[in-house]
Amino acid sequence: MVRAVAPSIESIYGDVVRRNPGEEEFHQAVREVLDSLAPVLARHPEYTEMKMIERICEPERQIIFRVPWTDDRGEVQINRGFRVEFNSALGPYKGGLRFHPSVYLGIVKFLGFEQVFKNALTGMPIGGGKGGADFDPKGRSEGEVMRFCQSFMTELYRHLGEHTDVPAGDIGVGGREIGYLFGQYKRITNRYESGVLTGKGLAWGGARVRTEATGYGATFFASEMLAAHGTSLEGRTVVVSGAGNVALYAVQKATQLGARVIACSDSGGYVVDEGGLDLEVLQHVKEVQRGRLSEYADRVPSARHVAGGSVWDVPCAVAIPSATQNELDGDAAARLVRNGCIAVSEGANMPSTPEALEVFRAAGTAFGPGKAANAGGVATSALEMQQNASRDSWTFEHTEARLQQIMHDVYARCSEAAEEYGSPGDLVVGANVAGFLRVAEAMHAHGLV
Ligand code: NDP
Repeated sequence: MVRAVAPSIESIYGDVVRRNPGEEEFHQAVREVLDSLAPVLARHPEYTEMKMIERICEPERQIIFRVPWTDDRGEVQINRGFRVEFNSALGPYKGGLRFHPSVYLGIVKFLGFEQVFKNALTGMPIGGGKGGADFDPKGRSEGEVMRFCQSFMTELYRHLGEHTDVPAGDIGVGGREIGYLFGQYKRITNRYESGVLTGKGLAWGGARVRTEATGYGATFFASEMLAAHGTSLEGRTVVVSGAGNVALYAVQKATQLGARVIACSDSGGYVVDEGGLDLEVLQHVKEVQRGRLSEYADRVPSARHVAGGSVWDVPCAVAIPSATQNELDGDAAARLVRNGCIAVSEGANMPSTPEALEVFRAAGTAFGPGKAANAGGVATSALEMQQNASRDSWTFEHTEARLQQIMHDVYARCSEAAEEYGSPGDLVVGANVAGFLRVAEAMHAHGLV
């Protein structure tokens, strides 16, 4: 159920749907933000006058391009590449690249829109953007992935720059892909411009903790929510969805903080290990072998693999959805609540459907929306940019301490804005309002551009 909104916001939403037909994920992300903004407009009539919401919903620039490459059999392949430069009010466009067959303009726009508010919440000088391609790296050889990345960058490079647009990874884009993309950028431009991409290898300008940052950050955010309710992760059961970059490091940090992480998933199903997942085996299967989760169960006798099915059937106190958008629907949310889940911290972008959100709201489940809970990844990317700009390299401990402080501050910003705008404890409203205000203030200062 969608909450009642002021008519002017309703008509703005109608225009977004009309102007962006068929882009359902983008509509969903816009709807969620707009539903929080009525009290902001009531207090800031100048934003209605300046059409601030309409401006924020329209990307500054959208780039769509052909990516031709040849596979190992010599056959020509054509993919479609995207970069949506959404908003540069707070700094250069910043946001990851996603390589997945489901990528189309609507997905990139939803992710770019979320990124604008997320980046604002970090308090750092970064605007919002997102990109990717409908390329499926699964089952492709090293050579094929490299040739694809080179062709992708051969077009994209002209739109990038450390002061203009700085991509990073997302689904299907990890350290290997960032390496190939950086190599091609350097070759074409003849510039060793470290700050043009983040998520780089440690030997060539990368930052410690960037790989771990999103999963660690989502876990720190869960700790913040639990602390506000007078409790902690210590001794709690945790379920994480996904088994990629975000998920693996959520498993690691939650375990370090005393929780027992009993299940995770990939697109083939999920594994349950009641004694707690063995991260070393998990990392070997997923990061080294790039294998399927069923192989984890083959190697760990206490684990059980369930093909298909939903990882949200596994009872837990804390859920950290870290796979993809709309992976947790209303039914799954109801099962989680029935099974005693008290907190949800979104490691992924928009993993909960609007129906799931309503279930958590009604049940009083502590809920950290992705644009706040997973902001640790992009925040650490901004720390990587800082290190690149000063040609410095920080220790793991120092960087992790910075990340933990940033997550604490993100939580505080959301919590305070929720309180101030009449929805105490509602971090969805708090994140949307706090993010919007920071971006709107900068846009206001820059005039009509
Ligand atoms: P990865 O590609 O490393 O991992 C994604 C994981 O999710 C894989 O286990 C994958 O399984 C699973 N998955 C992906 N799509 C689906 C699907 N349609 N159904 C079921 N499972 C699926 O990606 P990341 O860990 O980097 O990203 C995960 C989420 O976190 C995304 O929403 C991303 O936007 C968000 N995020 C990532 C950040 C980062 O720093 N990496 C920063 C902020 C947000 P399989 O391998 O079987 O496909």
